[in-house]
Amino acid sequence: MKIGVLALQGAVAEHIRSLEAAGAEAVAVKQVEQLDELDGLVLPGGESTTIGKLMRKYNFIEAIQSFSKRGKPVFGTCAGLILLADRIEGQEEAHLHLMDMTVARNAFGRQRESFETDLDVKGIDEPVRGVFIRAPLIKEVGESVDVLSTYKGEIVTARQGHLLAASFHPELTDDYSLHAYFVKMAAEAAGNN
Ligand code: GLN
Repeated sequence: MKIGVLALQGAVAEHIRSLEAAGAEAVAVKQVEQLDELDGLVLPGGESTTIGKLMRKYNFIEAIQSFSKRGKPVFGTCAGLILLADRIEGQEEAHLHLMDMTVARNAFGRQRESFETDLDVKGIDEPVRGVFIRAPLIKEVGESVDVLSTYKGEIVTARQGHLLAASFHPELTDDYSLHAYFVKMAAEAAGNN
């Protein structure tokens, strides 16, 4: 599977390393034309307002929407989850409007309140190690969204068909199980698993 990591801003190299550990070929994506050769795309953590602005500037909004429309899997982590959401609490505008959910930004407090924890994720046998850095959470999801994990009662991982979103940074640990889960989604979508 060839998986791209959107490389406008944020934690790109770490995702590439985790995707490779999960057995995929991984590339940094800087131009919309590169989407054509991918089986899946990761939207990394960083700062969602900044990444959103750059996505608009370089025509990634429509390009990723049509990538998703073709059934290609997209995985958003932290800021990437915010980019995927249809609704952002307290903001008039969202970005990609792909996943039927409302997200709250910086829901766990400030940078110094960052933490790491083990999460039970539906579909993954072992606990998943997650790093939460100024993380968002998922406030509410539509009917077609499957909640995969919660932390203290709040939704932190969710899936809607070929779309996957996590509040935390799975790429900052040696645990690449969530990346392996996404690579499997890409293989299923490509019909060759
Ligand atoms: N707080 C950031 C935002 O709102 C996300 C933080 C992250 O990606 N680590 O975009």
